[in-house]
Amino acid sequence: MTAQSDPIRRLGRAAGVALALVLAVVVVGAAPPAKRRATLVVTGGTVVTMDAQRRVLSPGAVAIDGKAIVAVDTPQAIAARYAAADLIQADGAVVLPGLINTHGHAAMVMYRGLADDLALMDWLQKYIFPAEGKTVSPELVRVGTRLAALEMLQSGTTLHTDMYYFEEEVAKATKEAGIRGVLGQTVIGFPVADAKTPAEGLARAGRFMQAFRGDPLVVATVAPHSMYTVDAETLKATRDLARTYGVPLLTHLAETRDEVVESMAKHALSPAAYFDAIGFWDTPAVAAHGVHLTDADIAILQKRRVALSHNPESNMKLASGAAPVTKALRAGLTVGLGTDGAASNNDLDMFEAMRQAAFLHKLSEGDPTVASAQTMLEMATIGGAAALGMGDRIGSLEAGKLADLIVVSMRSARQTPMYNPVSHLVYVTRGDDVRTTIVNGRILMRDRRVLTLNQAAVLADARKLAAKVRAAVEPAAPQSSVAR
Ligand SMILES: [Zn+2]
Repeated sequence: MTAQSDPIRRLGRAAGVALALVLAVVVVGAAPPAKRRATLVVTGGTVVTMDAQRRVLSPGAVAIDGKAIVAVDTPQAIAARYAAADLIQADGAVVLPGLINTHGHAAMVMYRGLADDLALMDWLQKYIFPAEGKTVSPELVRVGTRLAALEMLQSGTTLHTDMYYFEEEVAKATKEAGIRGVLGQTVIGFPVADAKTPAEGLARAGRFMQAFRGDPLVVATVAPHSMYTVDAETLKATRDLARTYGVPLLTHLAETRDEVVESMAKHALSPAAYFDAIGFWDTPAVAAHGVHLTDADIAILQKRRVALSHNPESNMKLASGAAPVTKALRAGLTVGLGTDGAASNNDLDMFEAMRQAAFLHKLSEGDPTVASAQTMLEMATIGGAAALGMGDRIGSLEAGKLADLIVVSMRSARQTPMYNPVSHLVYVTRGDDVRTTIVNGRILMRDRRVLTLNQAAVLADARKLAAKVRAAVEPAAPQSSVAR
């Protein structure tokens, strides 16, 4: 018995050991899993997500891996789940999606303050067009866009929309700064610096769109200037080009009363209806301004799913009028916010654009309940993203979206106390309050230190080039320190 029972007992013991081992493995498996890797975690601030529920986490944290956001949660939850290679402490700050500028002409920062307080036609014909005619060059576009990109990333703009000349230079400077761009090569009906004819402009746009197709930061597109500066055939050709590349068309629409009067006289149609009649709206488009839109125009834009870019500061400074933005929003239009070019604003600060938009509509409608802070922040983030057809990738802080976010200090006297972060972002915050700017998971500015552009060189190049701009506009005028 014993001779037999010994091996049996040994077998039994072996089975017991094996079972213990299996149990041990199961127990280890049930233990908290190893932390996931995150290239960057931003933690401790108030996180304004702008997600579908408009969640605000206070405090909150955002985990980023590579280009994408992998989680948005409480600081404790993120710390428990992620091992961060790099950490940004955002205590006392607000973390929000990077601001999206849906209309501008970046290089026009070179004409900032060149001529103010003039009627639109005087401003354009005596100053801006001559200055552009004599000075627009690849160099001016490169130097100007670098300066604009510096100003934008310093003030929390992570995507800018551009309509200008030599757009490949805009794209290069945008990528150098590390921000995103939806960049439209201008097509216009008269000779300009980079094209003698609209056909040349179209060919240039096609080459530009091909060259930057699939770029991780740049959406290369075409920007027919407006319905009054481009003929119908060329407008249709730009539409076809945008459709071929699957990118949004960019144009100006109903900016001034004169434009509408001219359109009615020439076509017996409003600018929006004319675009509709020629089939221009048959592909996704972003129309800038829309100051003088009728209810019928808004219905056309709604039906054609045309997005609107609202530029309150430019519209006020040039006395163009108050765009029917709250009406457009009620009609279901997608509306983004823009600064327009710096010659008519005169800065690229999207915080200011939010505040001015709110004030403009409250005043013009005689109703302080319209254009709320929440609505303005939506226009500057998720609304702008949707207007550009990128609402599924950017515009809010959510797992799976690209990591475009900013950290905004809330510790100045002006921002104290803070009861409501959204109110503060719109009504008291300035671009200079932005501490850190992140695009595609890459830190472009950290605690006010710009990491992508050489700030001193960008400013020096712009000052140097400004002498040429001044000479072009006032060839005979001596420099004078006396105000005129
Ligand atoms: Zn414009």
